[in-house]
Amino acid sequence: IYEGLHYDSIQKIKNTNVVPCIQQYYKKPLLLHQGKMQWLFDSEGKRYLDMFGGIVTVSVGHCHPEINKIAHEQIETLWHSTNIYQHTNLYQYAEKLTSTLPSHLKVVYIVNSGSEANDLALFLTRLYTGNFEIISFRNAYHGMSPYMMGTTSLSTWRYNVPVSFGVHHAMTPDIYKGLWGGKHCRDSPVQTTRNCNCSTFKCEATENYYKQLEEVFKYSVPRSHVAGLIAESIQGVGGIVHFPKGYLQKAYELVHTNGGLCIADEVQTGFGRTGDHFWGFQMHGIKPDIVTMAKGIGNGFPMAAVVTTSEIAKVLNYSSHFNTFGGNPLACSIGLKVLDIIKNENMQYNSKHVGTYLLLELAKLRDKFECVGDVRGKGLLIGLELVKNKSTCEPLGASDFVRIWEDCKTMGVLIGRGGFNGNVLRFAPPMCITMEDAKFTVEVLEQALLNYYNKN
Ligand code: PMP
Repeated sequence: IYEGLHYDSIQKIKNTNVVPCIQQYYKKPLLLHQGKMQWLFDSEGKRYLDMFGGIVTVSVGHCHPEINKIAHEQIETLWHSTNIYQHTNLYQYAEKLTSTLPSHLKVVYIVNSGSEANDLALFLTRLYTGNFEIISFRNAYHGMSPYMMGTTSLSTWRYNVPVSFGVHHAMTPDIYKGLWGGKHCRDSPVQTTRNCNCSTFKCEATENYYKQLEEVFKYSVPRSHVAGLIAESIQGVGGIVHFPKGYLQKAYELVHTNGGLCIADEVQTGFGRTGDHFWGFQMHGIKPDIVTMAKGIGNGFPMAAVVTTSEIAKVLNYSSHFNTFGGNPLACSIGLKVLDIIKNENMQYNSKHVGTYLLLELAKLRDKFECVGDVRGKGLLIGLELVKNKSTCEPLGASDFVRIWEDCKTMGVLIGRGGFNGNVLRFAPPMCITMEDAKFTVEVLEQALLNYYNKN
């Protein structure tokens, strides 16, 4: 039974006492009360299928009973900082987390948010290389701290104050809306058919976007000396933009040749979500020097991490470095349990199995409806782009998008929204969803699309 504030009182407080920039979904934002695995319940007891996992934070399910149990036990035992005293959880966690990564990535620094993790990663690249320049991608989202706002390249998420000098934004290798694409460009069960001039053996997208990156080095970076490159394995907030095969491999080579380090931002793509691999960067066959992670790492508990090599980590010995709550016993107990659950409950396999089914079913909607321009992603990280016109990719207008999206909510399915133009439906549910949930989602979306055309 909901015993919180009345909906109207909340709106009043929200308008008076809470910063106005917080974007809330839906004309009538949801007032949540409870969560149970893939389900959310609002203050009136209405149940929703959560196909967006609270922006990918809830990796293994809302209020997973095992996580609740371990958190409760830890709360009863000790909460403290582990930066001045030791606690077993931090060490157990560091060992377990690194066992999921390639063997060169051995050293962990636990922090509390994705922005903090990326800040630290950028800092490490500059300290280690002695260089300053950073390459990031247009349409990327890496966080909101001043350092990270500079790497984030979505103007809708930036402010008119100088942020993070020395960041160069390379062209997004977008094979749907961008200049080049290809039939088999994506490492995904669903392909795009746009912009394809590839010969049988050669992907035009990878080559041409790579030339653009070389030009950034040539024209923009003094002596091509870079500290590092930061990239998401699939761009999340930017609308699930999935780079062409081989592109990141070539980009990493270029950065390494020019003295820089490569950061894989796994905040959305990590912990088995992409299905085939535990880490998103593995689908690109690349070897990052630094990996950052957040969101799903704590199943909703504030926690994040940076993992790097022991050689790079040594640069932090130069001075003292401190993070009060990073690696605290409670966060690490939860982090440990999340790793156990992903393994014991076959969450990665489920992401692949249910995610592939969902992708293929959504692709049928693309073939059926003029306004579904593209369906892309991997595992349980999927984007569906709504357009006015399939051949021009012009985005569907905001009011039309909102009609379809709100209709899904009314029918009980919560979906995320993303992309520079806000016209991409984003699916990133807790990894425990079932085939039935995927079927229900597609039925609901299909009905919302039919309703949209019937009312037009
Ligand atoms: N990197 C990526 C890829 C993200 O999606 C986000 C959050 N949307 C961040 C970093 C920043 O994480 P946080 O909000 O925890 O600072």
